[in-house]
Amino acid sequence: MTEHVVVRPEHGPTGTIHDFLDQHRPATPCLVIDLAVVEMRYRELLAAWPHSRICYAVKANPAPEILRLLVGLGAEFDVASPAEIQLCLAAGADGGRLSYGNTIKKATDIAFAYARGVRRFTTDSVGDLHVIADHAPGAWVCCRLLVQPAGSPTPFGRKFGCDAAMAVELLRGAAELGLRPAGVAFHVGSQQIDPGAWAEGIAQAALIGRQLAACAITLPELNLGGGFPVRYRTEVPTPIEYATAIRRALGNQFAAPPVTVIEPGRAIVAEAGVLRSEVVLVSRKSAGDPYRWVYLDVGRYGGLAETEGEAITYALATRHDGQPGGPVVLAGPTCDGDDVIYQRSDYRLPLALAAGDHVDFLGAGAYTASYSSISFNGFAPLPTYCLAAETHADT
Ligand SMILES: *Cc1c(COP(=O)(O)O)cnc(C)c1O
Repeated sequence: MTEHVVVRPEHGPTGTIHDFLDQHRPATPCLVIDLAVVEMRYRELLAAWPHSRICYAVKANPAPEILRLLVGLGAEFDVASPAEIQLCLAAGADGGRLSYGNTIKKATDIAFAYARGVRRFTTDSVGDLHVIADHAPGAWVCCRLLVQPAGSPTPFGRKFGCDAAMAVELLRGAAELGLRPAGVAFHVGSQQIDPGAWAEGIAQAALIGRQLAACAITLPELNLGGGFPVRYRTEVPTPIEYATAIRRALGNQFAAPPVTVIEPGRAIVAEAGVLRSEVVLVSRKSAGDPYRWVYLDVGRYGGLAETEGEAITYALATRHDGQPGGPVVLAGPTCDGDDVIYQRSDYRLPLALAAGDHVDFLGAGAYTASYSSISFNGFAPLPTYCLAAETHADT
């Protein structure tokens, strides 16, 4: 249903997305991905994590062109459903490069994955562990640890993971069931702004490792999850700063650290994308209202799901930038009262902004198209245009 078009613009290495938007004037809303930026971000993470496995979290943006690019670059993939497995296989990955990271899966999902060569599964419960043992005999199993560090605007809460004592039991149980204990996995919450947020999970993983070593089980890997942030309206630490802080924590806790796996989603694709929208209406609620309401043709259901609670605050761009501005409330086009994008995050837009103007959401390559609903109020899912990476001479 979602439209995927690979475009090879005539223009050079800078401003590719805007050249495309200027030349092709696609209907809005739409997401445009610059594959060269995806490649750059992947290589940057690789440089920061030279001895780690990089497992792209497919849910961040499952566009086939992105998956194909990452397959070519040697990435592995974190998948959460049979459909994500299919997408990765179609993009050229084999099952051995996929890790089924979702702890919530049906027996049929596990069997589907196993039949296609998937041999790595994450669990956090005895119920799921037994289903894995039944339908994926001999597979590697990671146990997800419940961690709740501060610093993420979109925390996982208590939905995933178990405590350290249960993790020990599950990994020991995995061995007894003929599965292969791989290690501990945890996720510190997406857009994690604190490089120190991994320390607690690493300490717990080391403790779990010591307890299992006492029963002759060694854990070859440690899955550090995703959470690496990107710049939206404010700067964030660099990938190197994260890798340094995490390596220090590993050195403090392990005599010989296990192989690390990282599962970046946002950090690989967010900055590669611009979501272009159009102003449908500008209005005020009363004659003296200082706030203009700016209604766009995209909102919470069209791809801006992460603006719920104003958790993610995108940087915006319009053709009037630099001219006098004023405070706005930004809202989406549907008949849902919750379809308000920003009303508390101090957004200002140019006073000249009018119906028909474009508003571009920058850094919108992650968790947008994959979150857009199929037809709430009749609005179509967000189409994605991927601009070919090979137009960039220097990457
Ligand atoms: C969503 C998810 C990721 C990716 O998280 P980011 O914050 O986008 O890097 C990684 N691992 C698992 C298990 C996830 O669910």
